[in-house]
Amino acid sequence: LPRDLFGAERRNAPGLAFGDGAALRRLTGSVAAAAGSADATPLIDGTVQAGQARPVLSPIDGTALGSVTEADEAIAARAMDAAARGFPAWAATPADARAACLERAAEAFLREQPRLLHLLQAEAGKTLDDAVAEWREAIDFLRYYAVQGRRLFAEPQSLPGPAGEANSLRLSGRGVFAAVSPWNFPLAIFTGQVAAALMAGNAVVAKPAPQTPLVADLALRLLHGAGVPGSALHLVPGGPETGAALIGHAALSGVVFTGSTATAQAINRALAARDGAILPLIAETGGINAMIVDATALPEQVADDVVVSAFRSAGQRCSALRLLLVQEDVADRMIAAVAGAARELTVGDPGDLATDLGPVIDASAKRRLDAHIAAMARSARTHVSGADPGGLYVAPHIFEIGGVSDLRQEVFGPILHVVRYPASGLTAVIEAIRAGGYGLTLGIHSRIDETAERIADALPHGNVYVNRNMIGAVVGSQPFGGTGLSGTGPKAGGPHYLARFATERTLTVNT
Ligand code: GLU
Repeated sequence: LPRDLFGAERRNAPGLAFGDGAALRRLTGSVAAAAGSADATPLIDGTVQAGQARPVLSPIDGTALGSVTEADEAIAARAMDAAARGFPAWAATPADARAACLERAAEAFLREQPRLLHLLQAEAGKTLDDAVAEWREAIDFLRYYAVQGRRLFAEPQSLPGPAGEANSLRLSGRGVFAAVSPWNFPLAIFTGQVAAALMAGNAVVAKPAPQTPLVADLALRLLHGAGVPGSALHLVPGGPETGAALIGHAALSGVVFTGSTATAQAINRALAARDGAILPLIAETGGINAMIVDATALPEQVADDVVVSAFRSAGQRCSALRLLLVQEDVADRMIAAVAGAARELTVGDPGDLATDLGPVIDASAKRRLDAHIAAMARSARTHVSGADPGGLYVAPHIFEIGGVSDLRQEVFGPILHVVRYPASGLTAVIEAIRAGGYGLTLGIHSRIDETAERIADALPHGNVYVNRNMIGAVVGSQPFGGTGLSGTGPKAGGPHYLARFATERTLTVNT
C-alpha cells in the first residue's frame, strides 16, 4: 500500500472501469433499482423531529423525490443543546474507537453504493462518473481521517524539557462544531466535514444545503449505523435561518463551512459579534479560477484540460476554471481547439451515459447564469454559445473579454471567459490575478519549467495544477483548499486538517 506523509498506509476507494460494459450495466441496473422515495428530517439524539415538510424536487425534470422537514430556529437550538450534552462522552471515547466508527461507515458507504449514487444523480443532477467520483471521495475522507486521527489523537505526545519536568502535548475536541455544507458535493463535503470534526473529538450539528438534504440524511444514518452515537451527531436540514441559529448559539465551539465567499464573510462577522470565547472558522469558498496558457503549450492537451476543468459537473465546482488566459501569438489556434471540443459536449439527462453536462442545481442558479450569458452576449465576443436547452439546463458558453478585471464575480456554471495576453504581459496577468484576491485553483500550461515555477511561486493559490486539468482533487494526494477570498486555508484531505478541529493542550508536571 502507498504510504502518506506520516508513513500511514492508505488506499483510495475503488473506481469503476467505464469501458467495462458488463460492470457498467450491473452498476446502472443497481442504481436504477435503488430509486425510491426518500425523506430528510431533523434528527436530535437519534430522534426524528416533527415539522412542516416540503417536497424535494429533482433538478433533472422536477420529479418529487421525497420530502424534507427543515429545522426551525427552535429545533436548531435544541440540536446544539443536545450536542453540548453529547460532547463529553464522545470526547472521552478513545480515538481508536472513533476511528473505527469512521471505517465502519466507509464499509457502509461501499455497501450502499446504489442508493447513494441514485440520490447523487436524482437530487444533485450528477452524471454517473461525477456521482461515482464523489462517492469515492466520501469514502476516502472517512478512511483518511480515521488513519490520521489514530495518529494524532491516540496518545499525548511527550516533549523534552528541563530535568525534573515531564511535558506532554495532547490534542482534543473543542466542543460542538457546526458543519455547514454545499449542494455541489452533497455527499463528499458533507461527509468530510462531519468525519473530520467527529474524529477530532467534537460533537457535530450538521446542516446540509437546502437543495440536497436527502443524500445527507442517508449519509448521517449510515454514520449512526456505524456506531457514531446519536448524541454526538445531529442533523438540521434547513436554509440560512437554520444556519444563523447554529452560529448564534451559546454552545458553539467552531464552524466548518463550504459555500460562497459572501456567506463565509457573514459567518465570520457573526462569530466576531458574539460575546465570549473566540471561535475558529474553517471556510472553503469559491474562486475566479484561472489557467494561464503560454505559447509552448500543446493545443490538444489544452483543449481537453480546459473542457474538463470548465464544463465537467456543468461548471458547478468551486475548483472549476472560469478564466482562461492565452498568450496572444497562439490564441486563435488555442481558442479554436477549445471551442471545437466544447461544441462536442452533450447537455441533457445525467441518467444518460452519453451526457456530459447535467442540469444546474435550481431555478435561481439557472436565472443567474442566463442573465450572465445575456450580458456577455452584449459586451463580449462569443466563441461558443448554444440555444437554451430549457428546464434547468445551461449550454456551455465561451466568451472573450478584454481583461482579467472584467470578470469580478465567480460565475458558478458552464461559462468560460477567455483573455488574450501579449508575450511581454505575463507579469501583468499574474498581478491582475493576484489583485482579484481569490486563491483556490490555478492552472498552468507551459512546456517551460521555469515559466510554470515562476507563475506558481508568484501566486498564493492553494491548488496549482501544471499541464493537466484543475478539478477533482484526490484525498491524500491533492489536499484541497484556498487562501484569501477563497478560504481560511485548511486543506481537506490533507495531513494537517484534523488539527484545525482540535485544541492543543500542554501539560507540565514537576516531577
Ligand atoms: N474538491 C473539488 C475538486 O477538486 C471541488 C470542491 C468544491 O467544489 O467545493 O474538484
